[in-house]
Amino acid sequence: MILNLGWQDTIAAIATGPATGGIGIVRISGESALSIVDRIFTNGSRAAAGNWQSHTLRYGHIVGEHGVIDEVMVSVMLAPKSYTKEDVVEINCHGGIKCLRAVLEEALKSGARMAEPGEFTKRAFLNGRIDLSEAEAVMELITAKTELSRQAAMTRLSGGLFEKIKAMRERVLTMLAHIEASIDYPEHDLEAMNLVQIKDESLVLAEEIKKLADSENRGKILKEGLNTVILGRPNVGKSMLLNAILGEERAIVTEIAGTTRDTIEEYANIGVPLKIMDTAGIRDTEDMIEKIGVGKSLESAEHAELILLVLDASAPLTEEDLRLLEFIKGRKAIVLLNKTDLEVRAGISLADVETLPISAKQKTGLDALYEKIRTLFFGGELSEDGTNEILISGIRQKEALLNAHQSLRDAVATIESGFSEDLAAIDLQSAYAYLGEITGESLDEDVIDKIFSEFCLGK
Ligand code: GDP
Repeated sequence: MILNLGWQDTIAAIATGPATGGIGIVRISGESALSIVDRIFTNGSRAAAGNWQSHTLRYGHIVGEHGVIDEVMVSVMLAPKSYTKEDVVEINCHGGIKCLRAVLEEALKSGARMAEPGEFTKRAFLNGRIDLSEAEAVMELITAKTELSRQAAMTRLSGGLFEKIKAMRERVLTMLAHIEASIDYPEHDLEAMNLVQIKDESLVLAEEIKKLADSENRGKILKEGLNTVILGRPNVGKSMLLNAILGEERAIVTEIAGTTRDTIEEYANIGVPLKIMDTAGIRDTEDMIEKIGVGKSLESAEHAELILLVLDASAPLTEEDLRLLEFIKGRKAIVLLNKTDLEVRAGISLADVETLPISAKQKTGLDALYEKIRTLFFGGELSEDGTNEILISGIRQKEALLNAHQSLRDAVATIESGFSEDLAAIDLQSAYAYLGEITGESLDEDVIDKIFSEFCLGK
């Protein structure tokens, strides 16, 4: 990998979010971090300057041309024991954005360069403290919207995926070594046996890699939540169901048909994180605003990963119900027969559709619903807490794995067709390289730049 020399500059950025808080942090990393902080920080006695001890905290003030800018605590982490493996200074300022900007400004005036998004983490990667899968996990940790996704990212950040990929790469290397040995020392006459073993091992490894690639879907659900839409005509109890699932009163439950016009998006954890869109009641109407609402619900349902179609058990099926039942055909959907606490109307017969009886009002039948969702999407594959399993995250990792899988299958085909082992070695080498893309060991610099550019500022 060619390293970009620009990364030796000293960089600075506001590391905390833009919201007002008690404390905000300006982070500086690089060779001049200490000299920069010496220029802008005072704790009353200048004698202290230059005498920084690693992993200590010092109280004082940031001073600019026109006097004191902020009262701060400065922490210093000397290379290599820091986030970036460079000298890192973190200035704990008052959390207001003005304070933070003013302090950052002073750091920039004193020789730091404004960091690019993700540049601190990029340095941690380039300096070999973390691999690419861990760097990506950092970003996921920051942006995690669900508890399960936080846990899955944390497993990856702790090197779970890195270790797994490393072991897989070693297995490919072992196969390559065998092939090379048989090419270099044909007199040992090991090759026939070795090739069969290599073929078998390639097949086994290819399957393991495929399984890991397939975990992307579950990883995505954990990360973003299962995109769920509650569908149904007005007044069947969609809002009440949403509240029951969320366990709190969020959506407005109303008895006037068609008033739930806006789409509400909420997260719920039922063992699988759900991202639920509550949509406007669906029915024919002349009302313009309602029409927008209706359009929205069907549009959301088009893209949903799971549809919960709610029917009212206490009323006969209507044309709209039938239309919605038609709409969900061929989609991942669960039909819920709501209001079963009331008298179930004889008119309701859904011989060819599997329904789950629930009462959103009494909160009954929900456990069966959750169980059904879990088996529908995870088929029992999700471990109890959803995190013991190492899941990959993102299309980039998935593609690299699928390519590695394909290369191993190619190696098998090459061996089966009786081609020379050098050709199988080429396939194995590309499998090795594709696996290395996940950890970042075999990736071009521009690809790496692109990955980090999607990070947030100050990280
Ligand atoms: P939406 O228009 O589909 O969102 O329906 P709402 O959630 O606003 O509910 C419409 C009406 O049905 C309200 O008066 C609720 O109290 C009532 N409702 C909803 N679910 C149930 C249920 O399980 N049992 C009974 N008895 N009433 C319900």
